[in-house]
Amino acid sequence: MAGLKCLEGAQGDVNRDYDVIIVGGGPAALAAAVYTCRALLKTVIFEKQYLGGQLVGTDLIENYPGFPEVISGVDLIQRMEAQAKRFGVEVRYEEVLKLQVENGLKIVTTDSGTYGSHAVILAAGAEPKKMNVPGEKEFYGRGVSYCATCDGAFYRGKDVVVVGGGDSAITEGIFLTKYANTIQIIHRRDAFRATKIYLDEAFSNPKIKIVLNTVVESIHGQEKVEGVVVQNMVTNEKRDIPCQGVFIFIGSVPNTGFLGNLLCVDVGCHIETNIHMETSIEGLYAVGDIRKNSYRQIATAIGEGVTAAIAAEHRLAELRALGKIK
Ligand code: NDP
Repeated sequence: MAGLKCLEGAQGDVNRDYDVIIVGGGPAALAAAVYTCRALLKTVIFEKQYLGGQLVGTDLIENYPGFPEVISGVDLIQRMEAQAKRFGVEVRYEEVLKLQVENGLKIVTTDSGTYGSHAVILAAGAEPKKMNVPGEKEFYGRGVSYCATCDGAFYRGKDVVVVGGGDSAITEGIFLTKYANTIQIIHRRDAFRATKIYLDEAFSNPKIKIVLNTVVESIHGQEKVEGVVVQNMVTNEKRDIPCQGVFIFIGSVPNTGFLGNLLCVDVGCHIETNIHMETSIEGLYAVGDIRKNSYRQIATAIGEGVTAAIAAEHRLAELRALGKIK
């Protein structure tokens, strides 16, 4: 099927070449594309940077079914990309700036054009949450990092701190032991969200020290990071931890800015969907880290992408049967 043309309304210079538009290029998007393309729906992915999303910054993956040996995020995404491209997905490196809905048609405005489709899958992912403490912004790229896989090698033989108590902080902290001399994992509580298997590994690694009930107040240095000031939440004691690197893994914030007020979103701006991954707007789906209640695993993102793709295929078939689209 080549591009379902809308019969209703006149939307000017809107490019209607695509049956399905996918916003974002992570695993959920590529999985959705495999399904929509195999259903012979002309599909485009809009990606502003590079395919893979947060997966690109993931060193080793050992919980994605089908890979009994560990696989790197880059390897896995390259396989997903090759598979989606084999079925004909088009990838356009354009940033989506706006999404509007007119007579059921979803109109996507990018930095290079305007596109319309009756099925849009939002898979724009999330970006690292910031601590918003003095020095964090100033020293970004000069000691402050949100990606151990990307920057870890710069800290060979150095002392670093990792902030957070979830799986990301613990697994990235373990990854940093390859390079850094010491890793202090600073967590604001005395209980972790992270999985026990990772915690056991971190606790037994002689390079890792766990600092509990503690928050980072500020990051300081001259040209580069030289230390962090932390405060113990129980005793209120403040102290300086000398370090050259600060790796922050305190969760993520979904990329929903381009939606404006279009969808009803929660406080953290995650998008609500039904079990078909459909939002409150018919034909508009949300999958992966952008979605409320997502488990934020590669495997669940894949499942969500596939669910949305099948739902979109059914919806387009219904619209066609009703004579609303060709
Ligand atoms: P999480 O939301 O799980 O954890 C965030 C951590 O940061 C929490 O410990 C939280 O503390 C802490 N935190 C939040 N805000 C602040 C702040 N302002 N200052 C200090 N600390 C803060 O995020 P993750 O990125 O770790 O994980 C996201 C999802 O991805 C999870 O579902 C996780 O299981 C999954 N994941 C799985 C992996 C795997 O299986 N290999 C690897 C990485 C992630 P508190 O606990 O007090 O709220």
